[in-house]
Amino acid sequence: AFDVLVIGGGPAGAAAAIYAARKGIRTGVAAERFGGQVLDTMAIENFISVSHTEGPKLATALEQHVKEYEVDVMNLQRAEKLIPASGPGGLIEVQLANGASLKSKTVILSTGARWRQMGVPGEDEYRNKGVAYCPHCDGPLFKGKRVSVIGGGNSGVEAAIDLAGIVAEVTLIEFDSQLRADEVLQRKLRSLPNVRVITSGLTTEVHGDGTKVTGLSYKNRNTGEVHRIDLEGIFVQIGLVPNTEWLKGAVALSPRGEIEVDARGQTSVPGVFAAGDATTVPYKQIIIAMGEGSKAALSAFDYLIRMAPV
Ligand code: FAD
Repeated sequence: AFDVLVIGGGPAGAAAAIYAARKGIRTGVAAERFGGQVLDTMAIENFISVSHTEGPKLATALEQHVKEYEVDVMNLQRAEKLIPASGPGGLIEVQLANGASLKSKTVILSTGARWRQMGVPGEDEYRNKGVAYCPHCDGPLFKGKRVSVIGGGNSGVEAAIDLAGIVAEVTLIEFDSQLRADEVLQRKLRSLPNVRVITSGLTTEVHGDGTKVTGLSYKNRNTGEVHRIDLEGIFVQIGLVPNTEWLKGAVALSPRGEIEVDARGQTSVPGVFAAGDATTVPYKQIIIAMGEGSKAALSAFDYLIRMAPV
């Protein structure tokens, strides 16, 4: 059995594994895809002290750093079920899709999240070439350019307000007949001179010139008319979905499916900790996920040294 078993191999999981292994305890990581969302990222310019790097490069560095320690890395393994310990001091079980079952005294859940996609032609082709999901990450790349934000919920309106201070103009497109963001955000949005809001708009296609985005088409849902907008960037803000479906009923989740954690990363289940984008901790960023992963590992270690000797 492991002392610490980490589920997920993104920035949070890698940090948790390194912090745990540095305590000289038996550490394992099971990940469906080691590297996580970082593998789908191109330029990273907000990983403090590294002014510029690229996703695949950072993912390789994460894996190399983990492998410098005695960590049992189980890549391409999907966890399907978590079974809490039957009593104090008991082992927690994690069942994998391949039929294997892993046991550990503590578990750190760091399965991350995925951005909901529009599912329209051109979106995949131009991801990281104008189609973006994170205004904190990619906003400055569009300085002085024209962008669109898809989605008029809180995250879409926040993104539009944020981007309006950086880019030349923002067109926010909402599917519904009205914005769904908090009134205070909507008021702020309406006060900005370089933001245009389109409601009842369904994005139908991302256009590009083969290397980068040049525009998008949307359909007016009332009239059925299709319009084309010329622009350089599209920020998709229609939801971030935590990869926690497999934990339903096992640990407490928020209404949005995020794992509920306290300031130490402790979940509702003793011995089970969580970190990163899969949790209720706000602002989904690499540096935050790494900090939270490190914290969860230290909490797991604290928990272990208080366990009755077996
Ligand atoms: P993830 O990176 O999502 O990793 C989750 C891990 O869990 C993966 O290994 C996954 O395979 C695994 N997993 C999921 N489900 C299971 C399961 N059931 N069983 C086993 N393993 C599982 N942040 C920045 O700070 N700067 C940026 O510039 C930036 N750019 C971004 C660009 C893009 C296109 C995207 C998508 C995100 C970007 N982010 C950026 C956000 C950043 O990538 C995330 O905040 C960060 O990766 C979260 O780390 P994590 O470890 O919590 O989760």
